[in-house]
Amino acid sequence: MTAQLDKANLFTMLVRGLFRRCARCGGKGAFYTGWIKKSDRCKTCGFKWERNLEGFQLGAAAMNIMMTGGSLLFVMGVGVVATYPEVPTWPLIAIVGSVALIVGIGGFPTSYTVWLAIDLRLRPLDESEVADAAEHARS
Ligand SMILES: [Zn+2]
Repeated sequence: MTAQLDKANLFTMLVRGLFRRCARCGGKGAFYTGWIKKSDRCKTCGFKWERNLEGFQLGAAAMNIMMTGGSLLFVMGVGVVATYPEVPTWPLIAIVGSVALIVGIGGFPTSYTVWLAIDLRLRPLDESEVADAAEHARS
């Protein structure tokens, strides 16, 4: 089972992260017990996601900023192109502001699970982490 867990490619892991699943095992909900509340281990494979807390939090925050900024640029670009040359400034600002709130707050858990996929690819689990996860996995 362990060999299969760590064989997923980056694309599979990113897709799992986009759907708030564990990047390692694909378990539903990953380590989330609520929208924002997290447990310290994946509910399915027992993987402890807090491997390097400070660095991981910074990466997840950066992921949230990139997701929010990317969606802002996309919505603003579509709004400007669709309404050019009479661009409705204030309605567009209201829409872009709403998107910032929705993606920024709503995408909070997704930014963690997507970053987890990247973090796992950059720093694969070592033997002790794999053994620790197997010890805490749901059987
Ligand atoms: Zn898992």
